[in-house]
Amino acid sequence: MAKLKIVKIGDSTLRKCCRPVDKITPRTLTLLDDMVETMRAANGCGLAAPQVGILRRIVVIEVKEGEVIELINPKIIAYSGEQTGEEGCLSVPGRAGIVTRPMHVTVRALNRHGETVDYTGSELLARAFCHELDHLDGKLYIDVASEMLD
Ligand code: ZN
Repeated sequence: MAKLKIVKIGDSTLRKCCRPVDKITPRTLTLLDDMVETMRAANGCGLAAPQVGILRRIVVIEVKEGEVIELINPKIIAYSGEQTGEEGCLSVPGRAGIVTRPMHVTVRALNRHGETVDYTGSELLARAFCHELDHLDGKLYIDVASEMLD
C-alpha cells in the first residue's frame, strides 16, 4: 500500500465530474487500498478519488474504526430526515462549516468484487455518504455550508 498526496482546494481536479469505473481491475483494488491508507494517515473518515487526483467514481469511508466501506460508482437511492452539524474536508485543511444533510441515506454501489451492495447509514455515516459522493461531481461542502466556523 502507498500513501497518496491529497489534492487541496484551489486545484481544478476537485471541481471536475468523475467518470464511472467500467471494469474493476487490479489497479482499482490498489487504488482502494491506497485511499484507505491515505484516509487513515490523515485522520479522515472519508476520501473520494478526485481528492487523490483520480477522476473516477470511487469513495472510501471509515466512520467507525475498522469498518471500512468501499464504494465504486455509488448513487444515493433513498434519503430521509435532516441533520445540521459541523463538517470538514481533508482537501480544505484547517476549516469547518455548518452543513444541513439528510439524517438517513441509502447508497447503492459496487464493492471491490463487482457485486451491487446497498448501504444505509444515519447521522455521521449519512453525512459522509453525501459529502464524499458530492466530491464525485466536483462539489465541496463549502458550496452548501450555511456558515463557516473560522
Ligand atoms: Zn471532502
